[in-house]
Amino acid sequence: MRISSVRAYQVDLPLREGRYTWADGRSVEVFDSTIVEIHTDDGLVGYGEVCPLGAAYLPAFAAGARAGIAELAPHLIGLDPREVTTVNHVMDRALRGHPYAKSALDMACWDILGKATGLPLVTLLGGREGDSVALYRAISQSSPEGMADNVAGYRAEGYRKFQLKVGGDPDTDIARIRAVSARLSPGDVLVADANTGWLMHEAMRVVEGVKDVDVYIEQPCLTYDECLSIRQHTDRPFILDEVIDGLPAVLRAANDRAVDCINVKISKVGGLTKARQIRDLCVSLGIAMTIEDTWGSDIVTAAIAHLAHSTPERLRFSSTDFNSYGTVDVAIGAPRRVGGTMSASEDPGLGVRPDPAILGEPVVSVK
Ligand code: MG
Repeated sequence: MRISSVRAYQVDLPLREGRYTWADGRSVEVFDSTIVEIHTDDGLVGYGEVCPLGAAYLPAFAAGARAGIAELAPHLIGLDPREVTTVNHVMDRALRGHPYAKSALDMACWDILGKATGLPLVTLLGGREGDSVALYRAISQSSPEGMADNVAGYRAEGYRKFQLKVGGDPDTDIARIRAVSARLSPGDVLVADANTGWLMHEAMRVVEGVKDVDVYIEQPCLTYDECLSIRQHTDRPFILDEVIDGLPAVLRAANDRAVDCINVKISKVGGLTKARQIRDLCVSLGIAMTIEDTWGSDIVTAAIAHLAHSTPERLRFSSTDFNSYGTVDVAIGAPRRVGGTMSASEDPGLGVRPDPAILGEPVVSVK
C-alpha cells in the first residue's frame, strides 16, 4: 500500500459562544482549521486535522500548517501509510520542527492504518480503558460573575471539570477563581489556566491568594524556569502545558518534580505517534494527563477520544470535546458528548467521514 496523493482543505470553525478569550486578552472568533486527506493506491482514504489556537498561542498558525503540509506532502508520496513511525522519520528528515504541520499528516496515516486493519485507533493505541472519557470545559475569560455563571450552565449540562482562562490581572484572577469555586460541589475539578500570562510576581500573588481554594494551577508563566519557581512556592497541584513540547520536556519536568499533571496536545508534539510515546511514558511515570489538542472539529475530537480512551482511567485527568464548541459539523461518526463524557468510536480508524460540502475544494493537492 502506497500513498498516492495528499490533499488539504481549509475550514472555518465559528464558535457557539461567539468568541474565546484567554490570557492577555487574546481571543479568537472563528478558528481556522486544516483537514488533510491522504489517498492510497488501493483506494483507502485517511483524514487528519490541525487547528492552532489562533496565531499567538503556540509557535503555530493556520497558514503555517498548510505551508508545512505542502512542503511535506511530496516526501510522503510512495510511502506505506501504515508504517506510521517510518512516515514520522521521513517527515522529521524533510522538515525540522513545525510539529503542528506534521500532526494532521500523521493522524491521517493512523486513520488509514485503522481502516487497513479493520480496527479502531483506540485498539491500535493500546486498548479501551473504561466506559467513557471525562471531559473538561474551557471557560473563556470574562468577569468573575460571568465565568461563574458560565460554569454553572455547563455544570448543568453534565461537565464536572472546568478550566478557567485566567492569566490576566492578578486581583481579578483571584476573584475569578473564588467566584467559580463557590459554585462548585465536592467531586468537581477546578483548574486555573494562565496560559503563560502571568509574570512571576503576579503568579506568586495569585497562588498565595487562592491557597485555601481547591484549585489546580496550570502554566502560570511563559518559560519552564519561571513555572518551576512558582511550583516551588505553592502547594496547589500543578500542571504544565505550553512548555511540554516533547519527550525531553516531560523527562525534565518529571526529574525536577515540576508537575503533578501534564497537558498532552496532539498537534503540539507532532501527531498521534509522538503523543502516544509521551502518553505511555507518563503512564509509566505515574503522571496524570489532560489529553487533547490546541483546537479542532470532529476529526481532532475523534483523535483525542481514541488516545484518551486507550489511556488508563486513573492517569487521564481530563480531555475535551472541541466539536461541541463550534457551530460546524465537519464529519459524521465523531464522538458526541454525553453529559460530561465522550467515547471513542468502534469503527475502523478514526471512525469519521467528513462532509465533502464542508471541505470544499482542496487548497493543497500533491500527487
Ligand atoms: Mg492549558
